[in-house]
Amino acid sequence: MKILVINAGSSSLKYQLIQMETEEVLAKGTCERIGIDGGKLTHKANGKTFVIERELPSHTDAISLVLEELVDREAGVIASMDEIDAVGHRVVASGETFTKTTLVTDETMALLEPLSELAPLHNPAAILGINACRAVMPGKKMAMVFDTSFHATMPEYAYQYAIDYDDYKAYQVRKYGFHGTSHKFVSGAAAEYLGRKPEELKIVTCHLGNGSSISAVDGGKCIDTSMGFTPLAGVPMGTRSGDIDVAALEFLCKKKNMTFSEGMNYLNKKCGMLGVSGVSSDFRDLTAAAEKGNRRAELALEMFAYSCKKYVGAYMAALGGLDVLVFTAGVGENTPSVRAGITSGLEAFGVKLDKKKNEFRNDGSIHDISAKDSKVKILVIPTNEELVIARETAALV
Ligand code: AMP
Repeated sequence: MKILVINAGSSSLKYQLIQMETEEVLAKGTCERIGIDGGKLTHKANGKTFVIERELPSHTDAISLVLEELVDREAGVIASMDEIDAVGHRVVASGETFTKTTLVTDETMALLEPLSELAPLHNPAAILGINACRAVMPGKKMAMVFDTSFHATMPEYAYQYAIDYDDYKAYQVRKYGFHGTSHKFVSGAAAEYLGRKPEELKIVTCHLGNGSSISAVDGGKCIDTSMGFTPLAGVPMGTRSGDIDVAALEFLCKKKNMTFSEGMNYLNKKCGMLGVSGVSSDFRDLTAAAEKGNRRAELALEMFAYSCKKYVGAYMAALGGLDVLVFTAGVGENTPSVRAGITSGLEAFGVKLDKKKNEFRNDGSIHDISAKDSKVKILVIPTNEELVIARETAALV
């Protein structure tokens, strides 16, 4: 069985074609900078890497390019789309409508549509991805795999907001958390790498990408996470503000003559690293600008590291200790200065980074970057949401 996994994010789209019997990745790749200048597809197949530079104004353009490559004479791995048995789509927000992996049908798509308001940057991208695949491969079985499932184990006192309890019951306004497949994968992989049972470990997982979230995992179960009712909460991100006093939004709406919904769009798309730096939402652009002395880019990076550090500290308290700190996703895996910024000052709590090991070149494998005398293991683990999604999809279809 061959499963095509589509993980459509806000500015990037990752895909893998997986042979399920062996869990071998036949082809994989990433479309980067979707919706911003400099679109690029990096496609790996047949032992080669193919780089295609092409503007990618939308996710539909990105998926069309991926499908083109999969059947390409040189870069392809299948003769036709018929060889794909099913497609698994990562979907960010499920609300309380879906609690597990679900088959894509007209009915479930109709139920998915209104959930976009919970994840305005991600769910519409996933829907575009699903619709594009349904158009190109009519009749193909497809599954939606949700980010929220892993966070279902949070205790009530962690997921509940301090709002009127009747309103919570009536509208299910609560913390759901996101990036669940990633937190699940890396916390499991950390235990496996260390040769320990997940039940024995207290882990903080930092999924740092264009969107970022941090989770506390106790004995293999999520007990808290930084994102909330929507992916807007938590640490500042590429274009999202992260946690902010809602009264500041009301004040800004009045000053800037914005409606509340324009204000939400502002917090989701014009704030975060982009808003503070005025340079970019992309951490590569930010680190390059900061190195050249751009103070606002430097400030954005300082704010990001400080916010992440506070979450790590809070979750050490929530967990009652810490065995492993994990970094993953685009920024977590590729940006040594961010990892150094987050861990600096945590030495008193047993978190000690090895500066030299931290400078490793990302080769797609797990790296232990903790100092010899660090009580807490600090690991960089490439996330594999795609494998989790493929397994769930295969099981469903
Ligand atoms: P993600 O949302 O996980 O795809 O991560 C996107 C973010 O990761 C962007 O801000 C990129 O700047 C950053 N990123 C991705 N790949 C790299 C890389 N090879 N080197 C540095 N940063 C990267």
